[in-house]
Amino acid sequence: MIVQCCVCEKVRKENQWFVQAKPVDPHETAVSHGYCPSCADKAFGELYRRARKREQSQLTVTAA
Ligand SMILES: [Zn+2]
Repeated sequence: MIVQCCVCEKVRKENQWFVQAKPVDPHETAVSHGYCPSCADKAFGELYRRARKREQSQLTVTAA
């Protein structure tokens, strides 16, 4: 089974992420979709920033 980034379609091999030369055929190989580190940072970094902003606005409301 391989792990493929669902955003940039890089494939993980031995803890490294590689650009696939040819598309992975899900009928031949079991593919698990995830995020490579840079896409995880983009995807979840944005979520974390939003969550933090929400927390801060809630704190402000509570303080007022
Ligand atoms: Zn990626």
